[in-house]
Amino acid sequence: MTSTPSISSFPTSAGKNATGNEATGNEATGHSTIGDKANPASGPRQPSRDEAMQAVETLLRWAGDDPRREGLAGTPDRVVRAYEQYFSGYRTDPVEFLQKTFEEAEGYDEMVLLRDIRFESHCEHHMAPIIGRAHIGYLPQNRVVGISKLARVVDVYARRLQIQEKMTVQIANTINEVLQPKGVGVVIEATHQCMTTRGVHKPGTTLVTSRMLGRFRKGDSTRREFLALIGNPGTQGSIGY
Ligand SMILES: [Zn+2]
Repeated sequence: MTSTPSISSFPTSAGKNATGNEATGNEATGHSTIGDKANPASGPRQPSRDEAMQAVETLLRWAGDDPRREGLAGTPDRVVRAYEQYFSGYRTDPVEFLQKTFEEAEGYDEMVLLRDIRFESHCEHHMAPIIGRAHIGYLPQNRVVGISKLARVVDVYARRLQIQEKMTVQIANTINEVLQPKGVGVVIEATHQCMTTRGVHKPGTTLVTSRMLGRFRKGDSTRREFLALIGNPGTQGSIGY
């Protein structure tokens, strides 16, 4: 499991972000993703639980099975319950997790790094699992947040339908807007089951995406330190999912 290929969206120059677009320069002010959380009030009517279960039953019949047989009798209910967990991120505001900060960190102003935050998400194109890990670093400016909160922010965005590039940007922008640090770096490595178990069937491939803001974008030494601390993702082959 060491020689598998990686697809890398890694920036090749400081001016590029994870998706290869030029920086827009608005990372300090935001306008990005915080309001992008699902807003049931403005979206389509949320179906009832019964309607959701009927939809699962329809899919079971469409797949060629009989939803009335014993083994499938409880399946629509179980699937709906599972969806409540997979997609609980729509009902949570990630900004809330970052509100409680500590200003008395004895002047700590070096990089704070949380790496290997495992997450499970689902791709918005196939609703297939995306399994991976995120690494988050930031340079505090007065305010430091409890490290578990960083992992919570990852979970909130992971528990929505996603594309990895968008999730990377959402996590970085949210931390940047709420904590207003001197810089933020987010790197995500993940495998996409829509690619490994269907379609081109390429097990072992890892998608690496990154979003660098502030000093992480402008300062080569900060970015290098961050990438070295997280072990230069994408260079070590498969992440083993
Ligand atoms: Zn997909």
